[in-house]
Amino acid sequence: MLQKFSSLDADVIIAGAGPVGLALALDLGRQGVSVIVLDAETGGPDARPNKRANAINTRAMEYMRRLGLSPQIHAFVASEPYLVRDVAFVTSLTGHELTRFVDAFESSPEPPESGLSPEEYLRIDQDDIAIMLRREIGRLGNVTIREAWRLDGLTNGDASVTVEAQGILSGERASLRAAYLIGADGGASTVRRQAGIGFDGEGGRGNNVNITFVSPEIDAANRHPEAAMFWIVNPRLNGFAGGNFRTWRLTLFAVSEEDEAQVRANPQPHIDELAGRPVAAEVVSIDRWTAHHLVARNYRAGRVFIAGDAAHLHPPTGGLGMNTGLGDASNLGWKLGAVIRGWAGPALLDSYDAERRPHGARVVAQSNHQYNLRPVRYAAEDLLDRGPAGIAARAEAGRRIRDEKGTEFFSRGLVLGQTYRSDAIIGDGTALVNSEVIIYTPTAQPGARLPHCAIASGSIYDAISTDGLTLVTVGRQDSGAFAALARDAGIPLKIIEAAPEMAVVYGARFVLVRPDGHVAWRGDAVIAAADLRRTVGRDPGGSVQPAPVSGSASHE
Ligand SMILES: Cc1cc2nc3c(=O)[nH]c(=O)nc-3n(C[C@H](O)[C@H](O)[C@H](O)COP(=O)(O)OP(=O)(O)OC[C@H]3O[C@@H](n4cnc5c(N)ncnc54)[C@H](O)[C@@H]3O)c2cc1C
Repeated sequence: MLQKFSSLDADVIIAGAGPVGLALALDLGRQGVSVIVLDAETGGPDARPNKRANAINTRAMEYMRRLGLSPQIHAFVASEPYLVRDVAFVTSLTGHELTRFVDAFESSPEPPESGLSPEEYLRIDQDDIAIMLRREIGRLGNVTIREAWRLDGLTNGDASVTVEAQGILSGERASLRAAYLIGADGGASTVRRQAGIGFDGEGGRGNNVNITFVSPEIDAANRHPEAAMFWIVNPRLNGFAGGNFRTWRLTLFAVSEEDEAQVRANPQPHIDELAGRPVAAEVVSIDRWTAHHLVARNYRAGRVFIAGDAAHLHPPTGGLGMNTGLGDASNLGWKLGAVIRGWAGPALLDSYDAERRPHGARVVAQSNHQYNLRPVRYAAEDLLDRGPAGIAARAEAGRRIRDEKGTEFFSRGLVLGQTYRSDAIIGDGTALVNSEVIIYTPTAQPGARLPHCAIASGSIYDAISTDGLTLVTVGRQDSGAFAALARDAGIPLKIIEAAPEMAVVYGARFVLVRPDGHVAWRGDAVIAAADLRRTVGRDPGGSVQPAPVSGSASHE
């Protein structure tokens, strides 16, 4: 039973205004939940010189669509020269091309199937997404972002969480109280540590250096067809280059401390090696990142949750870090909102860890597997030979790269095939359909993402309720008994109809879908009342639970 709060500063405090904290703030704010975001950054996203994620995947775009951001992200991307998604493996930008993954990332290596999603993988910097999220949050009256405020301490109480915070520039101190706290405060998360949540795995698996630079000469020298990334396979350079092509980012893998000092003192030889000949370049920044293999032991401790890099840390190989964090937000946002607003029970919140941590562990393992397959592995001695030995060595390198690196650039199974198991998912005994990284098989088995289809009004995803459960009937079905059960249980239920042809993919006449687009239950007859309650963490035999009264939130 939720407590009644009379003196809360907000329903939820979020530490961290990276993409994950901001997405959660917008999601909760849209549900009428009051939120305070504390962010230790002093300059905001447009002030960061070191670029990180430069792409958002299909599943994360589906979440952005739910938050209403999809049109502006598409408009932004259309104005940028980011369209090519190929990944090329080359000996240098003026050298040989060994192989190319055409239309990479979770697009399929086979001819693309149509209609898997109304969204797609898009190339855009994470800071540009953060700017758009902030703009939308600015339109809400119930979400406050406290810039340059750092969370320093927390007390995880039975009925509320108290946070100690400090204004970094002002020196001012504040004690804030909320029903829940989310740590979206990045890899070094203070929230995670103070909540007593440890990491499993291995930290510090490798030191890596990014050189960000501008060079019109290298643009002109590049003799290869366009690509989103050029991986350099050459005994003298172990890295890849990409970026947004106004600025280049050359990543050097597994650099020792001594070598890093040399790179910092003189980055030019590495840029020349990338180019394959000397080129003029202006270096914008040199920064390092560390490869980790870490997953938090729990994503929840009492009233405290962690999400994004605070919960899972891995190398960027495969481009899954921010995208997985946005998946955490998509899972946690609706659950917290539903519990605070009273249509779900507090037990639902346990399903966040049960559903997201296994996926986080899978992503961490997969990203590290690919981090271990660095380009120098394919740099055979004869690779740059001008004669037949070189031709043979390059053909062999290309073949090995295709064999081994496929799961880094084609991961539709991992991205769209995420399937949850928890107390809030009513299983139907079917074996897990999607367990591969590359191949995705559309299925509506409980826990899976509802396979996409078109309905009369457009994409079925646009019809899924963000504010309750959705019953999808396959063809016209009598859904009166569902409506009555949901009414009795106080669970908002929207009913929509998919075409009868979806019976093959959906595998049942009725599919119950959550706001995050995952299937909670499916069947051919009405759901048992106790199962319906379980999908939202409610006591199977309990009565309607009144919405708690918050000190500050404006609940509907
Ligand atoms: C070189 C590189 C390339 C990458 N490429 C990709 C890619 O292509 N695709 C992808 O999906 N991911 C990529 N990533 C990973 C991605 O950048 C991260 O996963 C993502 O930024 C995580 O978002 P977050 O919101 O969890 O954390 P962060 O972005 O780290 O944000 C955390 C925020 O919390 C704030 N904060 C910290 N401590 C406190 C505190 N005590 N109180 C208040 N605020 C605090 C910080 O100031 C920061 O604003 C890449 C990473 C690197 C290093």
